[in-house]
Amino acid sequence: MGSPKINWSKFTINPDYDAAPWWDFTKEGKLMVRSCDVCGHRWWPPGAIGCSSCGNFEKTSWVESSGKGAIYSFIVVTQPILGAFAEATPYLSAVIDLDDMRGVTGLPVRVMGVIDEGDDQAGINSKVELYWEKISADGKQMPRWRLSTQQPANVWKFEGRPKGS
Ligand SMILES: [Zn+2]
Repeated sequence: MGSPKINWSKFTINPDYDAAPWWDFTKEGKLMVRSCDVCGHRWWPPGAIGCSSCGNFEKTSWVESSGKGAIYSFIVVTQPILGAFAEATPYLSAVIDLDDMRGVTGLPVRVMGVIDEGDDQAGINSKVELYWEKISADGKQMPRWRLSTQQPANVWKFEGRPKGS
């Protein structure tokens, strides 16, 4: 696979009130996560401004992630569901645990993303890092992901069933 070509010109991103600040941060190359000023919980996506842990709706902040993480789960997309992805399939869509962001439960904050370079070697636990792709004339950027040069020993992916099973 490798570096799927997504045709962003087929997308119009019109963020709502809650998501607009997040998209503005992408123009500066900042991957932001919502943080609750009352209990310290953190979450993504940024749509809802209320804290799902304590219910606080008024005192929230943005915190910046380094964009380093590990693949929690992934699928290989083989059928484009939108025209913008027609030239991109097959591509690897992953749920990524951010290394530097945890909610109050201790679980990592998880983000979604397409894995580009190195996707043939990618598996569960693969270390990934963020880079940005400009997707609109007003400077909005989409977070993209590639495999880190250092990988743990416990990367796993399904390699097919053994013969006879
Ligand atoms: Zn809270």
